Amino acid sequence: MTDTLESQPVHLHRRAAAAPANAEGPWSRAAVLELLQSPFMALVHRAQAVHQQHFPAGDIELASLLSVKTGGCPEDCGYCPQSIHHPTSVPATKLMGEDEVMAAARNAKEAGASRFCMGAAWRSPTDRDVDKMAGLIRAVHGLGLETCATLGMLEPAQAQTLAGAGLDYYNHNLDSASDFYPEVIGTRVYQDRLDTLGHVREAGIKVCCGGIVGLGETREQRAGLIAELANMNPAPESVPVNNLVRVEGTPLAGNEPVDPFEVVRVIAAARITMPTSRVRLSAGRRELGEGIQALCFMAGANSIFYGDKLLVTGNPDVVDDRALLRRLDLPVTSELAKK
Ligand code: SF4
Repeated sequence: MTDTLESQPVHLHRRAAAAPANAEGPWSRAAVLELLQSPFMALVHRAQAVHQQHFPAGDIELASLLSVKTGGCPEDCGYCPQSIHHPTSVPATKLMGEDEVMAAARNAKEAGASRFCMGAAWRSPTDRDVDKMAGLIRAVHGLGLETCATLGMLEPAQAQTLAGAGLDYYNHNLDSASDFYPEVIGTRVYQDRLDTLGHVREAGIKVCCGGIVGLGETREQRAGLIAELANMNPAPESVPVNNLVRVEGTPLAGNEPVDPFEVVRVIAAARITMPTSRVRLSAGRRELGEGIQALCFMAGANSIFYGDKLLVTGNPDVVDDRALLRRLDLPVTSELAKK
């Protein structure tokens, strides 16, 4: 498949060339590739300038993620230990009860999180699942936390139900560029993702959508993913950038680790092309180490997943995270809001 934007099967409100939401958009894959290939220091410097223009407080949003229904997923995502297709050690569980979820949400709030994300390993939830999730969303919302859910593919009416419960964000990642996607996932197609994202937008829920670095994609395909995200109209309000966690038993466990500076480049390109989005440094932070994380903040990352567990893989300890942010003089969004 050719790699021009025009050739990609994208039917989600593409940004009109006449009235781009981002001053520099729309973005071609070639233009994003040029960014990724620019000299590292110049790229980070440019991204930091864009960042300061749109986020003068320089705050870092802490988003906590709880797996409310783990494992047993019928999808075959090559990176995911929760898929039934891969021999991993993640057991399947039922949907957590409200008490357990609320206890985790209260802990997250006390630890400084401003957003609470609930993830369930479903291909697509049933209407009954969605009703149960709506109850959890209402309860978590009642604590004064922003809510986010990632539940798989949604029908339009299901998105409306979640919106009615007060869901602020729905996470549904594109993972990679459309021309690389079939290499990693065989049980659904790219357009399925775009359709759900369209239903989420139409229901008035904000979009959290990003991807993974290290799946085996080329740099050009990384550029393709960023262009895809940046050209949505509007761009996703949250853009998680994940560094592949190579979990034993998954088909991608043997992938070569990506140069950590490449993750910084991807963050910088996301910041420049989506200047008003929260760019979230997500899975795989532990592997990056503190120095690279600092560079990611410099390049425009202003949100992290926070907590001891990130769905089913490890995440830096809460205490270490807070210490790192203090050492870098980076304020936390929830605490800034209180001042
Ligand atoms: S990433 Fe999500 S959809 Fe894919 S296998 Fe894992 S839980 Fe299922």
